This record gives sequence, structure tokens and C-alpha cells, in this order.
Amino acid sequence: MKISKRAQSVPASATIAVTSRAQELKAQGVDVVGFGAGAPDFDTPKYIKDAAIEALKAGKTKYTSAAGIVELRTAIADKLREENGLEYSPEQIIVNIGGKHSIYEAMQAVLDLGDEVILPTPYWVTYPETIKLADAEVKIVQTEKSTDYKMTPTQLRNAITKNTAMLVLNSPNNPGGFTYTPDELKALAEVLEGTDVCVISDEMYEKLVFGKTEFVSFASLSEDAYNRTLTMNGFSKAFSMTGWRLGYTAGPLDVIKAMGRLQSHMTSNCVTFCQYAAIAALGEPAHEAIEKMRQEFERRGKYMAQRLNGIEGVECSEPTGAFYCFPDVSSHYGRNINGAKITGSMDFAQAFLEQANVAVVPGLPFGCDNNVRLSFACSLEQITKGLDRLEEWLSQ
Ligand code: PMP
Repeated sequence: MKISKRAQSVPASATIAVTSRAQELKAQGVDVVGFGAGAPDFDTPKYIKDAAIEALKAGKTKYTSAAGIVELRTAIADKLREENGLEYSPEQIIVNIGGKHSIYEAMQAVLDLGDEVILPTPYWVTYPETIKLADAEVKIVQTEKSTDYKMTPTQLRNAITKNTAMLVLNSPNNPGGFTYTPDELKALAEVLEGTDVCVISDEMYEKLVFGKTEFVSFASLSEDAYNRTLTMNGFSKAFSMTGWRLGYTAGPLDVIKAMGRLQSHMTSNCVTFCQYAAIAALGEPAHEAIEKMRQEFERRGKYMAQRLNGIEGVECSEPTGAFYCFPDVSSHYGRNINGAKITGSMDFAQAFLEQANVAVVPGLPFGCDNNVRLSFACSLEQITKGLDRLEEWLSQ
């Protein structure tokens, strides 16, 4: 059957090859250590599951308004006011089917053919594809190790053209594991003043910040930033609810209404009983539930970075957020390890998996071929085992 040009233009995820091979090896009984996970390894907290069960029992099983039930949008508005210093009315909030859907729909609502979207590296693999699906052009800003892979105000200024319609910011960052400081974000916000650039601020990892790292919502930086920003967040990472498919977008009323119109024809509402569980998720027990997971991630991230830096030819900043280390392993490129020629991150990940049975994600699809991504959403025991193998594999 004919496949549309649109669908043909979307490649299968470049990270899938490694993941599927890891699964294949596991199925054969090989003891594979998986550093590929993009989901917390904790169960969803019980109080949230209980709320979903209660909602089901109470018959919350029918359609809701496409944008989500007003009680949930009100709870999100309260959260954004109290935790992020952001004043949004429930009408300025739409509940989407996961953060991925928020991003897709926001881009569909804002972008046109010929628009340019600034995307600093390293970027989450989905952004370039959603930009292209909205007929817009990806304008990559290559960041440097020396700035901890953060885009500088000068780089942003130089990337803006008369066609720039959007900037995608993601802090804490997947795959980089870094977080922009409030001052760094302020400096970027100032560059945007006087332009028509809309910002998607992907705050999915907001709750997972470590040490003295301070999280700040981009829209809270100034009135100008507020007016140009779509604040995107969700329940997947903070509450360990990746399978529940709950994300949300808050922003200017006209954009949120446009997203609502699209959503009313594309998907309608998020799963109804999940919306009730989301209200519960934002309630009183949230702090303790999140803090337990956050502390564990912090402990693992510190350990992983320390171990990585102890390995010859591997350089890694300590993560300040999310659950990823993104070491530069490029000093091993050009080597031949047990017959495998390592020319870049794809070869590195493939050979490491085949020879040492550890799955890492190559940096190339994130825009940084010098790096690989290791998720620490797995036990400390697995982390130790995987890093022992890395040390041994690279020392050959
Ligand atoms: N943004 C970032 C940066 C992510 O890493 C992810 C998940 N990998 C998402 C958004 C989307 O999350 P979900 O669709 O599971 O809510």
C-alpha cells in the first residue's frame, strides 16, 4: 500500500536497534545490563493507583471535555501557582496524552511551513521529528562540552532569523542530565525580548534535580517570558507514571484553545479515570513520594558519574537533573576493540552491547556523536555491574 511522504519522512528511532538487540540477547538468556531506560524503575505510588481504582469503581469511564476535566486543570493551575510561581487559569491548561503528545500538538498549533525551530543539542530524539511533522525546519545549535552542553545567549542570538518561530528548551535535560541555572535562563529570555519566538519549555524532569540545583520555570522569569512560553510538563517521570499517558501544556489562551480544537478531533480526552488519579497524584502525599525517588536517583547519579570519570578516556559531568549520565567517550573513537572498529557513538554502543552485554544509547540521535547516554533508572547493583564491564571493555 502507498505510504504517505509524511510517514516516510519519519525514521524509525535510531536508538531502537540497540534496545531491540538487548531484548533479543536477554531472551537468549544473556545477562544484559540495561542502561537504556527512559522510565523510572519505581512502581507508581500506591495512593495514585488507589485513586484510579476508586475512579473506576465510581464509574469515571466516559468521555470528558477534550482538554480534560476542570478539576484536574484546576489542580494543575494550583500546582503551577504554588510551585512554579505561574498564574494560569484552568482555561489556559490542556491535559494531553503524555508529554510527547503535548509537544506534538503544541507544534501543530503554532508552526507553519517555512518556520524555523531552534533546537540546542543534546536534544530529546522526538523533537526534530515533531518539528518536521509540523512542516517546520529544525535549526540545530551545537553546544559545547565547555559550557556543559548548555546553549549560550550568543549562540541563541546568532541562531535567530526572521523565520524563527520557536525555541525548544528542556531543563533538566534528557539526555544531558544537566539543568540550566535561573541566571542562564534569564540571559536566554533577554535575547528573545523583542522577537516573536515562542518557547516550548519542557519541564518534564522538574522534580528530579540534585544537590543545590535550583529549578525554575522559564515562563516565571518575566512577563515577556510568560507571554511567549508554553509550559509543558507531565506525570511520567516525577510520579513514575510513564504508562498512564498524562502530560499537560499551559500557556497563552489562544494557543491552548487551538490545541484543544486539534485534540478534539485527534484523540479527545486523556483516559478518564487516569485524570482522576492525576488529581490525587498532585495532592498531599506527593512530596514524600517524589522525594524518596529523587534521593535515590541523586545517589545513583553521583556514583555513576564518579565511576565514569574514573575510566580512562571517559569524561562526564555530574548530573544535576533527570536520570541520565551523558559521558564523552570520543577519545576511544578510531580504536579497534576486539575486531570492532569504533568510529562513533553508534559503533560504540553496538560493540559494547555485543562484546560486554551492556546496553547504552548512542549520542548521535541526540545530536552529540561524541557521547553515549546511560540511564540510572536501574538498581545500584546493576549500575556497578555495568560500569565494571565498561571499565574492563575499554581497558583492552
Ligand atoms: N520530554 C522529555 C525530555 C522526555 O524525556 C520525555 C520522555 N522520554 C517526554 C517529554 C515525554 O514523556 P511522556 O510522553 O512519557 O509523558
